[in-house]
Amino acid sequence: MSTFPQKIIVTGGAGFIGSCFVAQCVERGQEVIVLDALTYAGHRENLEWIKGKGSWKLVVGDIKDPALVRDLLQQVQPDALVNFAAESHVDNSISSPAEFIHTNILGTYNLLEASRNYWKTGQKEHFRYLQISTDEIYGSLDLDSPEKFSEESQIKPSSPYSASKAAADHLVLAWNHTYGLPTLITNCTNNYGPRQYPEKLIPLMISQALAGKSLPVYGDGLNVRDWIHVEDHCQGIYLALTKGRVGEHYCFGGNAEKKNIEVVQTLCGILNQLRPHSAIGGYEKLITYVKDRPGHDRRYAMDDSKALKELNYQRNYSFESGIKHTVEWYLENNSWCKAVTNKQKAA
Ligand code: NAD
Repeated sequence: MSTFPQKIIVTGGAGFIGSCFVAQCVERGQEVIVLDALTYAGHRENLEWIKGKGSWKLVVGDIKDPALVRDLLQQVQPDALVNFAAESHVDNSISSPAEFIHTNILGTYNLLEASRNYWKTGQKEHFRYLQISTDEIYGSLDLDSPEKFSEESQIKPSSPYSASKAAADHLVLAWNHTYGLPTLITNCTNNYGPRQYPEKLIPLMISQALAGKSLPVYGDGLNVRDWIHVEDHCQGIYLALTKGRVGEHYCFGGNAEKKNIEVVQTLCGILNQLRPHSAIGGYEKLITYVKDRPGHDRRYAMDDSKALKELNYQRNYSFESGIKHTVEWYLENNSWCKAVTNKQKAA
């Protein structure tokens, strides 16, 4: 029996979240074509572990290339296009914003135009375009407020990254409203799990600790993020794609608000148990507070009751089970860490 959507183009599918989504689709028996430029954040290694498990292939290319995207849609005749491709690291957006504008905004525009031209031929009227977005488009919440972000929150981005993602979301809504393109948008909080490039908080702290290096925490360490396991996020994306109402936003969170310093202390505690280091005498001794990121958002938290109710979305991981699973993965997959970090050094 075939599962809808049977054929999916996944842009950015060689990155952290995209590769998890590809693996879940392949497991369901769907056919996946990954389009990925393999930037410093995208790796063949993220997909290699699903070789032989089902039907997928990788096309190396840029979402900003109109002819490539047009031809791929024509050739593949997909039932859906899910766009994960983005420049995704806030620190990089502060030091070099141009690539964020190009990939996140112009790249999305290019995918929308190509999708519109493909969809209007009428060969796949049930076609869906799904944009993967972030809670960061909503800006920052106060530390002591009970408020959470939801689909109704005001869009108020504060970094070049979040502004570029917000702009992309606006384009998606406009292509739905003006041209009728069947689009959906998902906005999610901070993800963690296997295969996250070690520039983001959790994998960075694990790799620094294992190397006996300092664990740099921004500012006072009290910034709060709502953490979701990447597999739970990807299940939510699939539900939005298959059960979501066209034109809608769906927010996903982990119901796990944690201060950055708490996350780092938790990682140190797990590592002390699983990989004790007698010379260091407790990984928490490596924690150092460093100058804060400019404009650092204080708190993110997501109210995902719309997804829970409309999509029957459920999380499988608590923060405690997910973080332990993640540390174990990094300990068992040192060769992955070496391969992806060496690629950057060689570039
Ligand atoms: P990532 O940086 O790990 O992966 C991004 C992927 O996009 C990489 O494989 C990269 O090679 C590819 N890419 C970049 N530019 C491209 C281009 N021009 N053409 C084709 N491919 C290109 O990012 P991630 O953490 O997996 O995030 C995926 C998406 O989810 C992003 O859109 C991000 O904004 C969103 N998101 C991430 C989080 C999070 O916590 N990581 C939370 C919410 C939303």
